[in-house]
Amino acid sequence: MNRIVRAGAASLILAFASPAAGQPLPEVHLIGTGGTISGGAGGPLNAGDLSAALPGIDSVASVTSEDFVRVGSSRMHPELQFELAQRVAAVFAERPQLAGVVVTHGTDSLEETAFLLDLVLPSGRPVVFAAAQRPPRYEDSDGPRNLLDAIRVAGSGRTRDLGVLVVLNGQIHAAREVKKTHSIALHAFASPDTGPIGAVDDGEVLLFTTPARRIHLPAAGVEPGVELVRLTAGGGAVAIHAAAAAGARGVVVEAFGRGNAPPPVAEAVDAAIGAGVLVVFATRTGAGRVVLSDAQRERGILSAGDLDGLKARMLLIAALGAGRNAEEIAAAFRTLAGAQ
Ligand code: ASP
Repeated sequence: MNRIVRAGAASLILAFASPAAGQPLPEVHLIGTGGTISGGAGGPLNAGDLSAALPGIDSVASVTSEDFVRVGSSRMHPELQFELAQRVAAVFAERPQLAGVVVTHGTDSLEETAFLLDLVLPSGRPVVFAAAQRPPRYEDSDGPRNLLDAIRVAGSGRTRDLGVLVVLNGQIHAAREVKKTHSIALHAFASPDTGPIGAVDDGEVLLFTTPARRIHLPAAGVEPGVELVRLTAGGGAVAIHAAAAAGARGVVVEAFGRGNAPPPVAEAVDAAIGAGVLVVFATRTGAGRVVLSDAQRERGILSAGDLDGLKARMLLIAALGAGRNAEEIAAAFRTLAGAQ
């Protein structure tokens, strides 16, 4: 049963509980990729084991499952992440009646995979990531609750066109905004700029707002040759030179503050651009926009706006894979991250 709980000028909270008795259950497909939620080192569980172990699942959704891969997410890489996106698209194409897809994933690189899928998949039926900080062998594992919540979000019928979502610790995050902010805490995932877009409370899916910042980059592939370099006092230039020498197509530089870089880094950046590498400046501060000087722009540097280094890299990987040129990539950063 769906109902509007509160509607105001600035915000709308929509709540969706389980289907009423007699109503058909929504169909949700679970795609397993590994990670702590699947058992980690303590004996991997497949996606079918996971959904079968969920208390109350029979009254929430009709769940099918498959294992796409079973790896710790530190082993994820752009080609595999893109293959996962293609698998999700294929599942939707094969099953028009499917309400949504849930992907179980390790927490380590979850924000990168979820964002890549957000960029390359069209809007429509929900794709919801679930993960866990504590493995199933722990009595107080957060996995079952997170997975059940994600299935509720995917099956609610009201999370279409919100982009890829990430559900942990009772919160629903937009892929564009979410970051892992703690190595072990249950509240590790946060959207520092916007907050979560909703919550799952006592089995009810509550939506507070809709993600405002999204773009779609349909692509036939990805360009994995994009490196991320964080500037430090006296450091960074060596890594930029090395990336260019190794044949990188793009380098995202997490620069100081608003986009500052000392002369050795500027020289490395100019050499990289001269060699045909696309260089994008993000800020290493964790929040706020990069604003490039006219001189930096004239040298060919692009701004990531307020997109962090991890996500700026994924955007570059997707945009280069989609065959976009520098001007089009600058426009993508403008639309998605207020880049100037
Ligand atoms: N090592 C795990 C991973 O696959 C950590 C986790 O899932 O929480 O990312």
